[in-house]
Amino acid sequence: MTDRITIGAAFLMTSLAGAAAIARAWVTPPSSGRHRATAPAPVSLLRPIEALDQFEARCLVERRDTLHVRFRTGDVQCLDCRSSLAGGAR
Ligand SMILES: [Zn+2]
Repeated sequence: MTDRITIGAAFLMTSLAGAAAIARAWVTPPSSGRHRATAPAPVSLLRPIEALDQFEARCLVERRDTLHVRFRTGDVQCLDCRSSLAGGAR
């Protein structure tokens, strides 16, 4: 009697483990790499720092004339306080 219960329990455990393995393989999405670190940005996006020119302009934050730089993106930034003037003083 005990042997039959043991064999039945072993069969049940084995079949459940197999079913769990099959269900996990069925549910887990194939690895697409989306959760990994993103690829490095293109070089063109890494270089907005290049200043096209420098000029003296009125800083709205400091309320005085300071040196500003104009970037390729059109943004203007004060070199003293790093405040950005959207659209900029041109
Ligand atoms: Zn400033």
